[in-house]
Amino acid sequence: MPTESTFLLAGLLVIAAAIGWVFARLPDFRRDEPSESSIGADYLRGLNLVLNRQTDEALELFVQMARVDDETLETHFALGHLFRRRGEVDRAIRVHQNLLARPNLSETQRHQALFSLASDYLGAGLFDRAEKLFNELRSSATMAEPALSNLVDIYERQRDWEKAIEARRKLDSRTGEKSVEVAHYHCELAEGARLDGDMASARQHLKNAGRSASRTLRGTLIRAAIAGEEGDHSQAVTLYKQLLTSDRRLMAEILPLLESACREVGRDGEIERYLKRLIGKDGSIKRDIAYAAIASGLERAPLLRDCVEEFLLGNDTLAPLIDVEHLKALSPDSRRESIHRICGGLRRLATSGSRYRCTSCGYSAKRLLWHCPSCKSWETIRPVQAFRFAEMTP
Ligand SMILES: [Zn+2]
Repeated sequence: MPTESTFLLAGLLVIAAAIGWVFARLPDFRRDEPSESSIGADYLRGLNLVLNRQTDEALELFVQMARVDDETLETHFALGHLFRRRGEVDRAIRVHQNLLARPNLSETQRHQALFSLASDYLGAGLFDRAEKLFNELRSSATMAEPALSNLVDIYERQRDWEKAIEARRKLDSRTGEKSVEVAHYHCELAEGARLDGDMASARQHLKNAGRSASRTLRGTLIRAAIAGEEGDHSQAVTLYKQLLTSDRRLMAEILPLLESACREVGRDGEIERYLKRLIGKDGSIKRDIAYAAIASGLERAPLLRDCVEEFLLGNDTLAPLIDVEHLKALSPDSRRESIHRICGGLRRLATSGSRYRCTSCGYSAKRLLWHCPSCKSWETIRPVQAFRFAEMTP
């Protein structure tokens, strides 16, 4: 909902445009030219209606206004923008359609009006109409870039990745950028093809993703999944290790996959040797390993068990809930059994709430998303990797 200040700001915008218009015509007023001063009177009456929130009357007055020139045009745009911001999209559309019907607009003004009308349609959720108008502006000298940017946004929302790739490439060719989005769109297509069982097409999309930008984490994850599905578990192990080396914050996601691929390969102790190397470089990773082991039910594996035990016995948050001294006094077998039971409770806690969060905007999700629905960033959502007791239900 628009706030009072939004309304006032928009009103001031309109007034500023009108004052400019009035000053530009002061000599005309002095010459007492009736046609000009009558437009001025209409204008001031229209502004008064806007400020008094008599928007229907103001809209009629502006739409019926006989003349639109450089100065009054800005006021029309300001009024259309005001209506759209207030959610009165029908009114905004009327203002912009009325402008487009004027025969004396320059190409720049016509393109601006087309863009505004397309934005109205977008705001109203009329994507097909918005897409059509934004497409008309692809080669505009003034509006091509914002139009292409909006087209990319529409295709992303519609998950039409082929069109998103084409529009994004066109936008990049105008701005000179090499954006990472194209790689992510290819990853979307690759994942779709993989799920359809079309591995050749999935590989081709992954190759295209690699050409578009530096490798995406998701691209590597899809490669590992394809390798596993085709029985090349050794390659899957290599790729999962690459992922963990690139970003340890993916531990909760990757550890169970790596453990499963290692088991398939039958190379006993491989995962332990790898994790020991990681711990040797940075001991704080034990905490991530412990969380991932508990969340995925792997707390009984030897090295993981040690990490979990150390995590539980040294965790200040858990200390009031766990009788640490009692646990320490138990025989090794009884202690493992107790820890296993505690891990069962913690696992339910870890899997019951939002386990993922966007590192860019803080958006919470229950599963790993590659495109943040809130801030629209790619690959910014990560597992939380911490137990959140506030989410426990009574
Ligand atoms: Zn976000």
